[in-house]
Amino acid sequence: MRNQIHLLSAFALFLLITYLFAEEYVPSKQFVIYLVVMLVCAVLPDILEPPTSRWHRAFFHSKRCLKCVLVLAIVGCAIGMRSGNYTLLFAALGYLVHLLEDATTKAGLPR
Ligand SMILES: [Zn+2]
Repeated sequence: MRNQIHLLSAFALFLLITYLFAEEYVPSKQFVIYLVVMLVCAVLPDILEPPTSRWHRAFFHSKRCLKCVLVLAIVGCAIGMRSGNYTLLFAALGYLVHLLEDATTKAGLPR
């Protein structure tokens, strides 16, 4: 899947999350940082494993990695609720968007 699609869907998810949950809690400087972190992490799997062939998907595109990132998202949410810093949560969500979109392709995600 193309990086533009990953970026666009991560951006849409970011807008949705900030609209629904964070309009009062996110100062504008942090808003930009969270957005940049989420967009970078939305393309990170393809930076770590460039899509040079159909078989480029290894650990960083795997279901195992998906589970690790899910745990990171939960930890990031807990950290954010305690300290007000949601950077880890948005990083994990960006990465999750990428993996979930790649999972919908014909090649899917390896174990
Ligand atoms: Zn990918």
